[in-house]
Amino acid sequence: MVAGILVSKQNSITLTILGGGKEIGANSYLLDWKGTRIVLDCGLDITKGGFETLPNFDILGKLEVDAAIISHSHIDHVGSLPILIDTYLQRGHRVHVTVPSRRLIPLMLADSAKMQENVYLPAEDHYYEWCLDRESVASMFYRRNVFAAHNYGEKFRLSPDLYASFFPSGHILGAAGIVISDGKHTFIYTGDICKHDQTIHPGCMLPTVSDTDFLLIESTRGSVESDPNRDRPGQLRLLAAEITETLNRGGHALLPSFALGKTQELIITLANMKMDGFIPAGAPVLYHQGLTTAVNKVYNTFSEFLTGFDPAIFRTACRKVTAFTNGDEFRSAWELTDRPSIFVFTSGMASRGSPSARLAEELIQTENSGIFFTSYIAPEEFGYELATVETGDYVQPDLKSDRRVKVNCRHRRRFSLSSHSMRDDLLQIADHFNPKVSVWVHGEPSSTQWLSTGFSGHHPEAVSLQPVSGETIDLTDGGKTIGHPDK
Ligand SMILES: [Zn+2]
Ligand SMILES: [Zn+2]
Repeated sequence: MVAGILVSKQNSITLTILGGGKEIGANSYLLDWKGTRIVLDCGLDITKGGFETLPNFDILGKLEVDAAIISHSHIDHVGSLPILIDTYLQRGHRVHVTVPSRRLIPLMLADSAKMQENVYLPAEDHYYEWCLDRESVASMFYRRNVFAAHNYGEKFRLSPDLYASFFPSGHILGAAGIVISDGKHTFIYTGDICKHDQTIHPGCMLPTVSDTDFLLIESTRGSVESDPNRDRPGQLRLLAAEITETLNRGGHALLPSFALGKTQELIITLANMKMDGFIPAGAPVLYHQGLTTAVNKVYNTFSEFLTGFDPAIFRTACRKVTAFTNGDEFRSAWELTDRPSIFVFTSGMASRGSPSARLAEELIQTENSGIFFTSYIAPEEFGYELATVETGDYVQPDLKSDRRVKVNCRHRRRFSLSSHSMRDDLLQIADHFNPKVSVWVHGEPSSTQWLSTGFSGHHPEAVSLQPVSGETIDLTDGGKTIGHPDK
């Protein structure tokens, strides 16, 4: 596929993977529905650098987009939205989101803009600097009518004959799957989907859709074997035991967590553990203020979408701190608290420079502290190194410096408390929709491979695909590839 010559086929429905093909990626998918062009999600891949961080918007060339639909507010699904709005979305056309996402997206983008200015993109590229810096993001949201916010189940129009609606996908507050139909064909995009209940986020509620033609589905956990010994209650008991032992040794317990979703989940989980006597009731729980504080407020506003999210817990059971001084120095854990404590600090993958990475750098030098991960960690991230390095070896907290830190802490573990469906659950979700063509994305190649093959095994009559980023497929022609980045 040569960049910029993507042409609509008037009687076809085609799907182009702008990002998220055989990777967690900068998720973004162009759905061309007989000439109506809809972008589903618009992410950034913060594990990469430079232009690799973005979806492959070059494929769009001079194409204008008729609508965008955002499944949820995580940066890997929404981070490049300012570029889409500024450059590709037709003037006056809308970005469709759920009601809670309408509140969360500006917070996430403003926070991402702060990082953007220093980290992700080459500073010399003024175009992206201009689109993604803090002022541009803020001014974009003054143009309030760019967003159309919808309740779950509410039907909204994309073109005279084409309608869409959201359904709850579990995962985080406001997360949604998307149903698109013209009455003749039906297309479903799951976004990030969680079938099981988490502590405060109820599992997905799948719509009953007869005759689904096309399913675009996530694959995050496709390579993780479903293991009954690693069920959620068991994992929570193990986590509670590790935290208790750490505090009893006189160490701190660090739980790296994402500001949106996982932090709220963990703070309520820890409060429940205290109430049930699984961890010491008097142990301070500290979270890092900033984005988390803003997200907590939105969770508070929309607590009717959650189970057991009690704002009083945030007032009484935890304390917000900032670990940076005015001069941007990182404070020692022992300056923030005078007792062994539990730190729920961003980011979940302990990305270099984040509060959780900075705190981990201090704690791994001690023997008695513990670092406990509860989310997916990309292999490029500092958290992956922290979780997998041998005790006695060294880690490199800052890639721009040769400084190495010796790891004395052996209490480093990963727990399976994911906000994504297990792989057998993903197959069940696909079974529920029973599509003629399924397209597996948002996963490492081993994950999309396992799921795509697994689905074919159940449904030999159906087409099951795992396209790469940059690939275009014709859904109405049996999923035939009509554009490929290597051809
Ligand atoms: Zn997500
Ligand atoms: Zn995602």
